[in-house]
Amino acid sequence: MMMTDSTQIWTWLAGVADPEIPVISIVDLGIVRAVDWDDGVCIVTVTPTYSGCPAMMVINESITATLNSHGVTQVRIKNQISPAWTTDWMSEAGKDKLRGYGIAPPEQQVIDISRLSKGSINGLGRPEKLKVSCPNCGSLSTSCSSQFGSTPCKALYRCHDCLEPFDYFKCH
Ligand SMILES: [Zn+2]
Repeated sequence: MMMTDSTQIWTWLAGVADPEIPVISIVDLGIVRAVDWDDGVCIVTVTPTYSGCPAMMVINESITATLNSHGVTQVRIKNQISPAWTTDWMSEAGKDKLRGYGIAPPEQQVIDISRLSKGSINGLGRPEKLKVSCPNCGSLSTSCSSQFGSTPCKALYRCHDCLEPFDYFKCH
């Protein structure tokens, strides 16, 4: 049996859209970790962005369906939970597409040094403040209005400058 080149498999996978954010592919999202061949079976390793993300089932089925349509009949999806997906795996192109779609891409956490130096006990164990820029106007004057946006993977934010609400793709 002919084995398709892994590079070709990656190209096909780049055409599989994320079911929640259709403008971004699963490759841009960085959740496809590896493509391997084992005795004629194509093994695709996928790390979910969010453990228990309901979209994973859909993603697994889309991968299988896409590869099947290109003649790769033996497909196995390996869901790898560890190491956990990080936003560093998302491509710059992917982050741009998210912004274009009106979703703030994940930001690095900002550590508030002034609070650490006070040695406040209350400050410990609290989540660090995130600086999330508004995808509409770029303002950093935003706040989280709900930890759960349109899906569990997103939080709902509001911009204080343009007053637009927007989804923020959560960091984990
Ligand atoms: Zn704004």
